[in-house]
Amino acid sequence: MLVSHELTPKRVHAWVAAHGYPAYRATQILSWAYRRRAASFAAMSDLPHALRDALAADFTLPGLTPTVVAHARDDTRKLLFRLDDQAAIEAVLIPDPPRLTLCISSQAGCGMGCRFCATARLGLLRNLTPVEIVGQVLAAQDQLRPDERISNIVFMGMGEPLANYDAVVQAIEILTADWGLAISARRITVSTVGLVPAMEKLVRETSVNLAVSLSGTTDGERVRLMPINRRYPLEQLLGMCRALPIPQRRRITFEYVMLAGVNDSLDDAVRLARLLHGIRSKVNLIPFNPFPGAGFVGSPPETIVRFQQRLLEAGINATIRRSRGRDIQAACGQLALAGAPAAHEPAASRDLQLSQL
Ligand code: SAH
Repeated sequence: MLVSHELTPKRVHAWVAAHGYPAYRATQILSWAYRRRAASFAAMSDLPHALRDALAADFTLPGLTPTVVAHARDDTRKLLFRLDDQAAIEAVLIPDPPRLTLCISSQAGCGMGCRFCATARLGLLRNLTPVEIVGQVLAAQDQLRPDERISNIVFMGMGEPLANYDAVVQAIEILTADWGLAISARRITVSTVGLVPAMEKLVRETSVNLAVSLSGTTDGERVRLMPINRRYPLEQLLGMCRALPIPQRRRITFEYVMLAGVNDSLDDAVRLARLLHGIRSKVNLIPFNPFPGAGFVGSPPETIVRFQQRLLEAGINATIRRSRGRDIQAACGQLALAGAPAAHEPAASRDLQLSQL
């Protein structure tokens, strides 16, 4: 499997030491691979020839090639990748001038089972490796027009990033390093269903932003939507958020998918405000993006606005997420079409949807 040939900082440093080269060679190699995007090891012109040959024998250069790039009417672009073992993942480029956000996947499929999410229907196929995560960013950069530059990266694609913790943290290291993509950690957001111990670790070990998918205001309500709430109920989750050492001027984002008649009452808004009391937070209300067989209906726009209004009155910073890329199934919770078929979905209908891209 290619994984053992991956050019991660950990492996390169260990390899360089084991081969008797000075440590600075590792940084040089990583910089050629990630910052300068060398096309081959042979092209790493300031390395000794013997070192270049040895590297070529033991490593592969990072990079993923999208199999399809779908373009939405609103200029959102979805990149589909088929990995070596045929697992499929997606990344989405979302222009919102002056920002250009890239939404990336951390797993093929997802094991969290959120009822309103299409990716959950796939189940967990496998974790992505650090270089597969970074490879999505490199591939997206290759798609940019000359005047474009990725300004923000969000781990909000397929998968639960904190269930693939080590790979995600290694990917963040490559994305933020000077020898790597040199993207500021302040412009990277990791979104989680609320894996409490890993959230604490992430805040300690990196300085990326944290987003928590909440979508319910009582344990009973949330557990029906997000089974993870059985393991980490609201009190534990929000208690941890309250205790996290979030730097000044930063906030935890709470995502809340608006489902008609399920979690969108004004009582919910009042409870949500109470739950978030004392946490430096902002709420992002997400209009539900439908997918075949979802079994939920999105809250009407006026309900979402009223809900937001109630939060604002309670002193909670709240915004409504504008849905992007719906016509290419690239919106929140719709990433799944390139993956394995959902149990109830025949392969033929999946192919049809793919060819419609
Ligand atoms: N597993 C992580 C990362 C994925 S982020 C997490 O859940 O936070 C994807 C976001 O889209 C989450 O906030 C999720 O609640 C939301 N989402 C899932 N399905 C959706 C749907 N059908 N419509 C709108 N938002 C959805």
